Amino acid sequence: MLEIIRIAVLSDNYVWLVHEPRSQETMAVDPAVAEPVLAEAEKRGWKITQIWNTHWHPDHTGGNAAIKEATGCQITGPAAEKDRIPTLDRLVKGGDTVKLGEVVAEVIDVPAHTAGHIAFYIPSEKVAFVGDTLFAMGCGRLFEGTAEQMYDNMRKLEALPDDTKIYCAHEYTQSNGEYAMVAEPDNFALKERMAEVLTLRARGEPTVPTTIKLERATNPCMRAKSAAELAERRTAKDNF
Ligand code: ZN
Ligand code: FE
Repeated sequence: MLEIIRIAVLSDNYVWLVHEPRSQETMAVDPAVAEPVLAEAEKRGWKITQIWNTHWHPDHTGGNAAIKEATGCQITGPAAEKDRIPTLDRLVKGGDTVKLGEVVAEVIDVPAHTAGHIAFYIPSEKVAFVGDTLFAMGCGRLFEGTAEQMYDNMRKLEALPDDTKIYCAHEYTQSNGEYAMVAEPDNFALKERMAEVLTLRARGEPTVPTTIKLERATNPCMRAKSAAELAERRTAKDNF
């Protein structure tokens, strides 16, 4: 029922513009910048009524103020990062729900990339907006948290249904996949996926959203058997 539009901004960010046709509400996830997001909404005749932020980093919140000024939208984000996102109107944490029209999203705490990072999961649509926590074939860097926390985050996300679509905030797939092939050289599903990814990227096409099923089969962070192994893989990727 939701219409979800990908807006590519900055060097490799994706802002997701989400329209709920019954209520005519429109929401932007992690608007790094304002102008292309406002332009896309206007082109479609949609009025942005909400912004949902997953974490405080400027490439996820940089457009908040200008979009709010232009539309009067309400901004929802992590309570634990309220001091770093002064534009927030509504503060949420794991277990809370947020609505777009009548469509309900569950907030999941996924600290590690930042200390208060959250994800939004919409069970009725089998869709999750995960910010910089889970990427195609990778996970976010551990800036404000531990490998143990990221390991727990992977358990929370892999528990979602197989066909859940995962909307992450960056096009990091090819570089993640290149490292994943080194971490798991015998993973056939990974080789197959990488071949598809290389074809898509050679044509300049996006590789996300991904799915939980695909990540379970090919993601070296999700597939790490312990927090220690995840730590080792994340560090190896940082230096890859
Ligand atoms: Zn980030
Ligand atoms: Fe980011």
